[in-house]
Amino acid sequence: MSATLFSEDLKTNIKKAERMLIGGEWVDSATAETIAVEDPATGAVVASVPAGDARDVDRAVDAARTAFRGRWSRLTPQERGLLLWRLADLIEERAQELAELESLDAGMPIGEARYVDVAFSIDILRYYAGWPTKITGDTIPVSFPTNFGGPYHAYTLREPLGVVGCIVPWNLPLMMAVKKIAPALAAGNTVVVKPAEQTPLSIALLGELVLEAGFPDGVFNYVTGYGETVGAALVEHPDVNKISFTGSGSTGKTIIKASTGNLKRVSLELGGKSPNIIFADADLGKAIPSAALAIFACQGESCVAGSRLYAHRSVFQDVVDGLVEAAESIQLGRGLEATSQMGALISAEHRDRVIGFIDLARSEGAEILTGGTVWGENGYFVEPTVLTNVRPDSRVLREEIFGPVLTIVPFDTEDEVLELANDTHYGLGAAVWTRDLGRAHRMARAIESGQVWINCYQTVDAALPFGGYKQSGWGRETCKESLDEYLELKTVVVGL
Ligand code: NAD
Repeated sequence: MSATLFSEDLKTNIKKAERMLIGGEWVDSATAETIAVEDPATGAVVASVPAGDARDVDRAVDAARTAFRGRWSRLTPQERGLLLWRLADLIEERAQELAELESLDAGMPIGEARYVDVAFSIDILRYYAGWPTKITGDTIPVSFPTNFGGPYHAYTLREPLGVVGCIVPWNLPLMMAVKKIAPALAAGNTVVVKPAEQTPLSIALLGELVLEAGFPDGVFNYVTGYGETVGAALVEHPDVNKISFTGSGSTGKTIIKASTGNLKRVSLELGGKSPNIIFADADLGKAIPSAALAIFACQGESCVAGSRLYAHRSVFQDVVDGLVEAAESIQLGRGLEATSQMGALISAEHRDRVIGFIDLARSEGAEILTGGTVWGENGYFVEPTVLTNVRPDSRVLREEIFGPVLTIVPFDTEDEVLELANDTHYGLGAAVWTRDLGRAHRMARAIESGQVWINCYQTVDAALPFGGYKQSGWGRETCKESLDEYLELKTVVVGL
């Protein structure tokens, strides 16, 4: 890495991840093992973090349980809200440092790290900072017969669950963690966070800011390590009340099975294969650049990437030409360089997986209109790739590639494209581009997906529910409804 990119702050912040945060103390792992963290733009090892194990998880869960029963439970809702707001302020003050860590660790362009990942983390914390004072139960009129010992007064309380295990993926790692931590803490729980093994760096700086904000010790803990050890230990732990997971469907299914010991709650944010539909009457001047961003932002490593683009046959060629031009204009480069518009994929293994899908499409007779290969001498870059003539039953059209690979398919009728859009076991994002109001709303109702965007794409907000239908997950993140996933509902009946 060039010295100019490696600021003093960045070097200092990388070193923080050499230890874990448990019970308010920076601690070593019970193991002497470490995980090498790579810069995906070069493949160089930039950090070494503890490869924790079940003993570290036990310590962290103990600390979280002690904090849950201790001072944290006695804070007023307003005090909890103020702490969340203060944490948001501290993240804002250190936004550039966090963005550099994220860009280095996850490969994304520094602008995306600063104005998507870090900026949205701040928004989410501020949104949930307003909630602790508004978590209320109901007073419920009951209809027991009067000869039943009444009258009665009945009401509900909404109480925190206890200790929440937050398991985080490697794409947009800070934001993915904050989406879990913010509602969990707003509801009064304590957390043990497990970052992805590839991207642990920003979570250490987040831990420092949690302490600086003044959260009681043990409210926020994190343990680094592999999914099969630290993640599995958290999922199986009898004293963890809930797992909030973001990651792949296969890991999500493993987690469901492994969590049955104490029947802990599980929420899952999983993958997608999102259809983006351009009708003949769409404003192509907006739809085409938006479709390019939908697939190529974050190197395509986005759960709501618009990876299946459907264009009405009458505008198909215009859409194809526009997407090829957009793909070819993207400047690839290491995320920390200000000129880079697309960074490296997370690892050599993932790059090879993405290239494997492109090779499969090629072997099945698809046309590769642009891209289709790795980029550069070093690191894990893949060129923005546009495919047409992909076989309808191809794995390329059915599985989540999680890279900068777009398929474009023509269609003739609304019914036909609706069937194509819903022909997937995923249901995370979808978009419809049309000037026909009736059609827009008909499609929004009929598409089986947690989000439907009309004449826009990937418009997310801390107040809007985010989550999936079908195998894209269980539950919702952001939004007021997600708080319910971190709360118990207790019924109290009083004989008067
Ligand atoms: P992954 O499932 O491999 O890993 C996610 C996390 O789970 C990591 O921290 C990992 O260490 C941990 N893990 C792995 N095995 C585990 C086990 N047996 N028990 C407990 N934890 C375990 O996923 P990934 O490759 O890091 O992330 C990419 C996937 O995440 C994609 O499918 C993507 O669509 C999905 N994703 C979804 C959303 C969403 O909001 N729906 C957001 C981002 C990413």
